[in-house]
Amino acid sequence: MQKILIVEDEEKIARFVELELKHEGYAVTKAFDGREGLELAESGQFDLILLDIMLPGLSGTEILRRVRRESDVPIIMLTARDAVMDKVSGLDMGANDYITKPFAIEELLARIRVTLRNHVSQQESAPEVLHCMGITLDSERFKVTYNGVPVELTAKEFAMLEMLVRNKNIVMSRNTLLENIWGYDYAGETNVVDVYVRYLRQKLDQRFGVKLITTVRGVGYVIKEEG
Ligand code: CA
Repeated sequence: MQKILIVEDEEKIARFVELELKHEGYAVTKAFDGREGLELAESGQFDLILLDIMLPGLSGTEILRRVRRESDVPIIMLTARDAVMDKVSGLDMGANDYITKPFAIEELLARIRVTLRNHVSQQESAPEVLHCMGITLDSERFKVTYNGVPVELTAKEFAMLEMLVRNKNIVMSRNTLLENIWGYDYAGETNVVDVYVRYLRQKLDQRFGVKLITTVRGVGYVIKEEG
């Protein structure tokens, strides 16, 4: 269930929107003043925020500014009629959309759907970069660095490192690694996993004088993240 936060001091509007959103299947939390709104908005638990601009305590634009420092959560601003400056500065500061009060609920619902959808597709198309113990692994560009220093890997070595980084702190058995990287019908040497771990260790652990890949005797391998 997608969670929506409404920050709106006009309780009638907040309640009405809440009811409609719940009817559409969203989970809804309301905040009636700016400070509470900011606290909730910064909690990171919402999929989308409806943010009024004129609020007691802290303005909507100030909340937007602070939330945007650390989060790209979709935010739709609720602005008073003809407050052109609000719209412009809101979009400048990273609001995804705005809607002018009074609004038709159908229009608000449509904008919420579009904003949520765009956000999801953006996240999907963003290149995924994994980080672990100084290793940075860009799974789309097939690039690996250790503390910023490029590391050249073959496709199989890369796949093995990616499995270990993606599942950090979980011991990967030889079978799991074998089946995921070489496939179920692999008919070659069964110690191929150990061979490739050895290659990876030459290119990472030994080259940089660190211990990244741990052997779990009789089971498999793991990259443990410290702390
Ligand atoms: Ca208001």
